[in-house]
Amino acid sequence: MRIPIITYHHVLPSDAKVDDSILNSPFTISDSEFYKQMLFLSQNDYEAINLEQLMHRKEKQTYKRLIVITFDDGWVDNFEYAFPILKSFNVPATFFVITSYIGSAGCMSQDQLLEMQQSGMQIESHAHTHTPLELLSNSEIQWEVTHSKKLLEKNLEKQVKFMSFPHGSYNKTVLQTVKSSNYSGCGTSNFGYAVSSTKMHELPRILIRKNHDISQFGKLAEGGTLTFFKGSIIQKSKGLIKNTIGIERYQNLYNIRNRIKRTSAID
Ligand SMILES: [Zn+2]
Repeated sequence: MRIPIITYHHVLPSDAKVDDSILNSPFTISDSEFYKQMLFLSQNDYEAINLEQLMHRKEKQTYKRLIVITFDDGWVDNFEYAFPILKSFNVPATFFVITSYIGSAGCMSQDQLLEMQQSGMQIESHAHTHTPLELLSNSEIQWEVTHSKKLLEKNLEKQVKFMSFPHGSYNKTVLQTVKSSNYSGCGTSNFGYAVSSTKMHELPRILIRKNHDISQFGKLAEGGTLTFFKGSIIQKSKGLIKNTIGIERYQNLYNIRNRIKRTSAID
């Protein structure tokens, strides 16, 4: 069975009073489009499961199509616009939050994270400072991975078992570090579907973009052979650019293109 793990970033009304760079980002979905996508899943017999359930999926017998919904970064619009829609459709989503951003401008607060957790959402790590882990030394990787885990565990009084890699950046050292730091699974930015042979520490995901209409969303959720093939080609060409120009320059290009605004790091 091919299980899509969907990734979102911002969910905002199209007339939201936010910076244009956020509103126009290719990763910002309107709240009405997000509602349509959740409605599509409920009308087409999808059952949303969390990552813990994905890990034990062999034990789960269901006639429904399974799907996992995740959000990266921890933006406050996730709480304001996506969370009420998720609750109304009874969808348990996973939010990977940058722990140094919690409570800063534009990001979710500690209380908001707790409220979502109490409503069945999973709060997990997206590292502490959102730096691509491949750019860091071994000790810095260790710190990013364990400090964010400890902070969330203390503040949310739960075990943090999952993370998603900032900018999808990881290598062998990163994988060894997350495994030895007791993470059960990690989300990547590699395009693909979770299948029985998928490694839990390299979960492929499907990034939803502003320009995906509901029929494209449906095809991505369904994971037909053609969709899978097209997505793999795009992924491979991105990987080729990254390897050719080097990750640091790729990262600079990425930042310029998406005009990522970094907020000051707080603990
Ligand atoms: Zn991120």
